[in-house]
Amino acid sequence: MIARVAAALAACVLTASPAAADTLVDNINGISVARDGTITQFGGMLIRDDGVIRQILKRGEQPMTPYQYRLDGEGRTVVPGMIDAHLHLMDVGFKALTLDLSETASLAEAQAKIAEYAAKFPNRAWIIGTGWNQEKWGLGRFPTAAELDAVVADRPVWLSRVDGHAGWANSKALQMAGVTAKTADPAGGRILRIGATRTPAGVLVDNAQELVAAKVPRPRPEDRDLAFTTAQDILVRQGVTAVADMGISIDDWQAYRRAGDNGQLRIRIMAYAGSVDDMVLIGGPGPTPWLYDDRLRLNGLKLFLDGALGSRGAWLKAPYADDPGNSGLQLLNPTQLRNLMSRAALDKFQVAIHAIGDAANAEALSAIDELDDTYKGDRRWRIEHAQIVDPADFARFAEYGVIASMQPVHQTSDRLMAEARLGPDRLRGAYAWRSMLDAKVTLAFGSDAPVELPRPFEGIAVAVTREDKDGQPFGGWQPQQAITREQALAAYTSGAAYAGFAETRFGQLAEGQRADFVMIDRDPLLATPQDLRGTKVLQVWINGAQVYDAATAAPLEIKQDEAMKAFDLGDADGSVPAEQGR
Ligand SMILES: [Zn+2]
Repeated sequence: MIARVAAALAACVLTASPAAADTLVDNINGISVARDGTITQFGGMLIRDDGVIRQILKRGEQPMTPYQYRLDGEGRTVVPGMIDAHLHLMDVGFKALTLDLSETASLAEAQAKIAEYAAKFPNRAWIIGTGWNQEKWGLGRFPTAAELDAVVADRPVWLSRVDGHAGWANSKALQMAGVTAKTADPAGGRILRIGATRTPAGVLVDNAQELVAAKVPRPRPEDRDLAFTTAQDILVRQGVTAVADMGISIDDWQAYRRAGDNGQLRIRIMAYAGSVDDMVLIGGPGPTPWLYDDRLRLNGLKLFLDGALGSRGAWLKAPYADDPGNSGLQLLNPTQLRNLMSRAALDKFQVAIHAIGDAANAEALSAIDELDDTYKGDRRWRIEHAQIVDPADFARFAEYGVIASMQPVHQTSDRLMAEARLGPDRLRGAYAWRSMLDAKVTLAFGSDAPVELPRPFEGIAVAVTREDKDGQPFGGWQPQQAITREQALAAYTSGAAYAGFAETRFGQLAEGQRADFVMIDRDPLLATPQDLRGTKVLQVWINGAQVYDAATAAPLEIKQDEAMKAFDLGDADGSVPAEQGR
């Protein structure tokens, strides 16, 4: 499905490539956005054979050198390839290839789906899945092991919550992991229990997940390859041409290297290792070079400072409004946090800190403040999520040039839960994109996929409306935090590139940049917010080559179903994915 040129160019393509095979893309409504939201509009691009933009053409302007191929854009809108600044690439693939509960609306529906899946794959040693959300089920509590036993009792079942911050096990899985009434809660984790008996109830929160996750057999390399290509296919169809991949392992990296070596790597991956060990295994003395025409680089290290709001693991300055004895989980003590940050920064690895609660954000900023004097130069410290921030702390983001890596769609998914967890007073600094921009902080937007669907145009619509897909709440939730469409586009392109030290390579459509672009069916600067959400991706080009054409691509469902069967976890060695952590 990779065509060097569009169908319109047809015949001449079959001949051998001449030395200077420039491609002219013209008759387009071209849009590019600088990090500050400044828009550039243009009518065409001349792209070098190596995928770099030679010339941006104003409407009616002629290319300065001859070209071999021409794509007539027929007046359609072209924007830079979308960059998802925070997701979990392999998990996107694994989610698509295993039991996915994200569309279930009740516990009963989930149970039915689990039973159906278990029947469909009778030989799989473990039943693995993701996507459940007791809030969406209206359950008012976490599900239990007994409720899983009721549908699958003979094999272990291990299902990640939608946010990756809790896992749900059946009795068989708990038994295989040796989790009993006597098992103590690990540091930074919690075993939910049945009253005074202390019997594990079935759900393990944050670090406690490792008790079961460690028993799940690891995916085979071929399973990872399948997960990667599946994820890449899902992303490209949404117009995503580059990602920041958070928390990778050496095994993930090897899968990307295999894809690069085999010519299967299309999208660009800015990777952040999930541990110091993986960081050093992959990068050695420092970040890797950009590999495969700027498609792969290990930038740095991802750290977890707290959990998530849904499982009440986000670390708050004051207790949860709906759980007065609980202020969340601090997953690293001050010394651990600073030591890990130093270990990375010492060798010029970039540091990305997951911080959701206001206490976690304040602590991350304090640590950056302390280390900033030692590790001079352009560090681009990143805080991932920055969901609940004490308004007093916005200025501190700007002071140290900290990038706020945020996910617009979380706001609509979390709205009602955030109100319950936080009460009214703390909402002022919640999902506060406008406050960040007002404080002159660089925003990088992403999806946190597979937690949310990786749909950048939906994210842009949310960013400008603070309304969900049903238009709720009318007028937007905390609407003073909405931003402009130009700012939202910047956060998904040039801002996200800057956040990954990639701004001289991609993120804008400009001379010298990689020709990564998306042809869409409407103009994002003119469409109404509701129309923005429905933006259709027509074509996707990466490095001057077409990687997706909506008119000719096979339906995703069919490809995914084939991959799911090939991703056969029923071997004797029982290899199944054990991805954890968001
Ligand atoms: Zn994440």
